[in-house]
Amino acid sequence: LGKKTLDAVSYIEENDIKFIRMQFCDIYGQSKNIAISNEQIERAILYGVPFDANSVAGCLDADHSDLILHPDLSTLQILPWRPQQGKVARILCDVKYPDGTNFEGDSRYILKEQMKKAEKLGYRFNVGAECEFFLFRLGENGEPTREPVDDAGYFDLAPFDRGENTRREIILTLEEMGFEIESSHHESARGQHEIDFKYSGALESADNIMTFKTVVKTIAQRNGLHATFMPKPLNGQPGSGMHINMSLMRDGENIFTSDFGGLTDEARWFAAGVLGHIRGISALSNPLVNSYKRLMDGYEAPQTVSWGYGSRSPLIRIPAAVGDYCRMELRSPDPACNPYLTFALVLAAGLEGIEKKLPLMDPLGEAPAALQKLPMTLREALGEMEKDTLVTEVLGEKTAQKYIQLKSWEWRQYIGMVHEWEIDRYFSTF
Ligand code: GLU
Ligand code: MG
Ligand code: MG
Repeated sequence: LGKKTLDAVSYIEENDIKFIRMQFCDIYGQSKNIAISNEQIERAILYGVPFDANSVAGCLDADHSDLILHPDLSTLQILPWRPQQGKVARILCDVKYPDGTNFEGDSRYILKEQMKKAEKLGYRFNVGAECEFFLFRLGENGEPTREPVDDAGYFDLAPFDRGENTRREIILTLEEMGFEIESSHHESARGQHEIDFKYSGALESADNIMTFKTVVKTIAQRNGLHATFMPKPLNGQPGSGMHINMSLMRDGENIFTSDFGGLTDEARWFAAGVLGHIRGISALSNPLVNSYKRLMDGYEAPQTVSWGYGSRSPLIRIPAAVGDYCRMELRSPDPACNPYLTFALVLAAGLEGIEKKLPLMDPLGEAPAALQKLPMTLREALGEMEKDTLVTEVLGEKTAQKYIQLKSWEWRQYIGMVHEWEIDRYFSTF
């Protein structure tokens, strides 16, 4: 047994860990897991843990239904909300074929491949995500209701803000799991909240988002609340975004920084690459029928392919920040996205911008320009995705096809339903 294995095994013994959850995510970025007991850990490390890939969205066809989970030991973490005797830990896993080759549809693998490509060019991609979410009340039988936990708004204080105790517990739990929390606040909409944690390399950052969502949902439920990352749960209120703050490092230096607070050449090319592909990426970064209702309505969510400094309406915003905190903020993604795939695509688009030294359009506000619009519906976004060869390249032909197929079906289901709005608008009039 290698040293890493021995370390993990003795950590599990010393900490009285009884169950280990082997965790991964499906094509939608939903966490999945299978628990093994502590006696099985050596075997799991040596041979992996098989699962039925036919039952996991985006995995395989019926002929190749066995895939194997291989634990990434660096991600072993105790779940603080589970019993403290006979503890529960989780390990994020890589997904492989029985012969040991990587499963090409594994989200982590897809991101790692892009990170490798960036590394070859001398870059490290850092990401800080701002995940907004809503807290709703639970009903008598523990079912989620449509009633937000409070009527407070941006930066409000308790007692108006009734989420403060839940936020506090979420933060303490995340800190126990090694997160560095930077800030938290009530967001603009009723029952809407935000907790921000420190940026890191894109892979770790995507892993962190997965953990973050689990913690938020779990702790909310323990407080009698339902947490949702659905992008637009309320009519007439802002939706939830997942802004992605991006920076690129070379030789340990942030190359988006310039002395004047302006943008370096590389930053401009990178931004141009992202702007050029964002329409093709939208089906991934904004994956739900519901995602487009957030983008349509304004409320500080972007609607056009644009960038700028001051205002919060452009797609890419350059925040006022210095040194290592210099970054660009991509504002269209929402927290329903698969963070691994979204980061992989944004990175690839940015690198293409640098490779081709793509010119950056003028910032918003300087000259009134005819701006391209972001897709208005999931259907339109899927069409744009199909046209964008970079997206297919990054995801791989098979995974891209599978995604389009699954999402087209989701769209078909939606469009085939009679919605409340139609009844209100047409039922009596016609
Ligand atoms: N909730 C807004 C959105 O949908 C963002 C608000 C903010 O700037 O934090 O993106
Ligand atoms: Mg916010
Ligand atoms: Mg932001």
